[in-house]
Amino acid sequence: MTKYILSKSTFLKGLQCEKSLYLYKHHYDLKDKTPAHLQAIFDQGNAVGLLAQELFPGGVDASPEDHFKIQESVLRTQEFIDNSESIIYEATFQFNGVLAALDILVKDQEGWKAYEVKSSTSISDTYIQDAAIQFYTIVNSGIDLKDISIVHINNQYIKNGDISVHELFTIESVYDRVQEVLPTIPNTITTLKKVIDQETAPNIDIGIHCSKPYDCDFKGHCWKHVPEYSVFDISNLRINKKLDLYDNGIITLDQVDPNDAALNMSQKLQVVSEQEGTIHVDAPKIKNFIEGLEYPLYYLDFETLSSAIPIYDQSRPYQQLVFQYSLHIQTESGDIAHKEYLAKADLHIDPRKGFIDKLIADCGTRGDIIVYNLGFEKARLNDLINLFPEFEDEISSIIDRLKDLMVPFQKKWYYTPAMKGSYSIKSVLPALVPELSYNDLDISDGGSASTIFTQMVQGAYTGDYDQTRNALLEYCKLDTLAMVEIYRILKILII
Ligand code: SF4
Repeated sequence: MTKYILSKSTFLKGLQCEKSLYLYKHHYDLKDKTPAHLQAIFDQGNAVGLLAQELFPGGVDASPEDHFKIQESVLRTQEFIDNSESIIYEATFQFNGVLAALDILVKDQEGWKAYEVKSSTSISDTYIQDAAIQFYTIVNSGIDLKDISIVHINNQYIKNGDISVHELFTIESVYDRVQEVLPTIPNTITTLKKVIDQETAPNIDIGIHCSKPYDCDFKGHCWKHVPEYSVFDISNLRINKKLDLYDNGIITLDQVDPNDAALNMSQKLQVVSEQEGTIHVDAPKIKNFIEGLEYPLYYLDFETLSSAIPIYDQSRPYQQLVFQYSLHIQTESGDIAHKEYLAKADLHIDPRKGFIDKLIADCGTRGDIIVYNLGFEKARLNDLINLFPEFEDEISSIIDRLKDLMVPFQKKWYYTPAMKGSYSIKSVLPALVPELSYNDLDISDGGSASTIFTQMVQGAYTGDYDQTRNALLEYCKLDTLAMVEIYRILKILII
């Protein structure tokens, strides 16, 4: 069998950026390493795909033994069809140099129907292109497809006992939308084949296509001329304006005209601060914020897990479930105590019960509770009220005591060039307290904490459990210690 030229994924890559397709085919070594969080998303997608097979049980599997033998799947699929199999998983077809593997192919009374599984909760335009290239390849391979559907996650599903695949998944026909796109497919294939045949990479500069619809995995290569801190870091500036600046040769903040009418006050402040090396302090506003706080102060931070396939009863797909917190408690005289909670990583023990029991006890009944990005903690606490209505009064009282330490930085009451336009705690901490750093930690961001704990719950984690639990505790503890230190610096500023 002639080797295919395009797969479904390289077709989509070429649609996003022809240079990306060319580099993938000719300079694969330039591709960025897949980050752990993205790998976790891929793994989750595989698990969702396998579970969706239960919608059509009893099928035969045309998966290749390994990725390099994928063309064997084409032969196996044809054998299954010749043998009158009516449900085929990973059915694979090749036509006009395009190879496409479909998640589930089913024959019922009406004829053949195609099902492509996605772990997202809605259907994007890219999924329609994805379905169209599948439809094109399958139909031209001699299968008279009567329908093609996207199977996606229903985020309103609430787990109660065993997973109900018919409730977890929504099956949505995209037949009509695919027919609209279908006429463009042959020309696109011809164009993309020509791109691959070129002697050199297409001359395409960086742009909005580098992140839309997906983050391109050649950014490390194409963006290397853009410094780590550039106009692309001007906070809340529209991407089109950033690209306008870039297209006019304005890449660093030094080159930006601070009187540019497109910049708002906050963005101007960021630019001027960088150009002049100045620190901006709005002492009255900070003073007002600090003096409005009531002791003892509780510095609180949550860690959460989320999964496309709900793990625990009374939870929805992708719902953020609390499993850990750190709490520093500070009296007016400056004494500090630390409390924490980290759930047992166990499929059968919902982390939320132990979490809320201990949180209510640890938070006491008076004093403000300082968080960083209040909306997140508040939403999780409201979720807990829904789950444990018997604790509504206690949890509501915690919500009423929340104060957001992010506000002084978000509103630029305090800004230093070292924050590089960001008000996330990961940027504010090194700017204010350089001696405290996340860099030395084994787990240094919330996404990794979430992924690792989820893997531990599912028994898929391969590292040392005890060591990793300690790393999780250390990470969360630093988040609240960071707030203690940031608050201390703010207080010094207004003396
Ligand atoms: S980084 Fe941007 S320009 Fe480079 S290949 Fe990817 S999408 Fe194209």
